[in-house]
Amino acid sequence: MTDDGTTGWGEVRGNCEYVTGDTSERIISILSGKLCPLLIGKNPINRNEINSVIEKEIIGNSGAKMAIDVALWDLEGKILNLPCYDLIGGKVRNFIPSDANIAFNDIEHTINEAREYLEKGFRTLKVRVGMSHEMDEARVAAVRSTINSFNTNDDKKISLFVDANGKWKAKEALIMSNIFKKYDVAWMEQPVDETDIEGLKFLKNNADQEICADESCKSIKDVHEIGKNNAADAVHLKYIKAGSYEKLKAMIDIAEVNHQDYMLGQMDEGRLATAAILNVAATVKGNKFEVSCFKHVSEKNDPGKGIRLKDGGIYLGNSPGLGICVDKSLLKFEKNCKNFNY
Ligand SMILES: [Mg+2]
Repeated sequence: MTDDGTTGWGEVRGNCEYVTGDTSERIISILSGKLCPLLIGKNPINRNEINSVIEKEIIGNSGAKMAIDVALWDLEGKILNLPCYDLIGGKVRNFIPSDANIAFNDIEHTINEAREYLEKGFRTLKVRVGMSHEMDEARVAAVRSTINSFNTNDDKKISLFVDANGKWKAKEALIMSNIFKKYDVAWMEQPVDETDIEGLKFLKNNADQEICADESCKSIKDVHEIGKNNAADAVHLKYIKAGSYEKLKAMIDIAEVNHQDYMLGQMDEGRLATAAILNVAATVKGNKFEVSCFKHVSEKNDPGKGIRLKDGGIYLGNSPGLGICVDKSLLKFEKNCKNFNY
């Protein structure tokens, strides 16, 4: 908040320890004990100065850093009366199309979910795999058949992706890749354990699908290493992995220099954090986005208001900042948040 009361809002998912090591308690502790006190009195528009202070004083903790970065970005937009995408060079698209994730389920539910997404306008379906091989094949086959029997009202190609979240060994993943080839699966995300860069590389060289690193790619250094080792066709980039727009942009730039495809995604956060990645998505050359997962946070209970899924994606507004209004009545305060002055 500035002296005149202009307020920027940030959001980060608390239980992201499986990606960044951050827990809710740790994020709150870093924010209240260190990050917020460091920023009092600083010029919120001078992001270079703020980022250099944060990087010098705090190692890691990209979750807490994201919460601050998103809030500062929102604040800067409100101060300058510009949408955030205009602060970073302007948008190249007004609509951010999203993939839709199909969760683990039985065949009937899988088909119903796929059909529902197609009817809602989604044109990329990403199936979570890593059950038994037979069940994975049956579910992917069911989604392919649902796609093939669906009459679109547009001429957009419907793509089928899978995400194994590191479930397989490399040779097992290649077996699955050959099975999925029958169903025209275009993208295989994190087929092997996050530490198995050689396995990713083996698949990149031998699998029919585009191989995407998600859990293997958590930092600028990871994007660089994966590119240098030619270990994946694509990387899945998320704000929380970077901790700031500045670092996320660096990850995007490295992927582009390496001629890698990239997906900009999110971590099932609410609408405010989603708006941050949407504002980035509006400006990039890439065209793969996963920005629909905020649907898991009900609109009624989400303090962030202002974005809605339509036609399988999100249309951008032109409000200053992130374009999200925060309903303070829906914020819940934990007792260890008492140091915050909302
Ligand atoms: Mg993934």
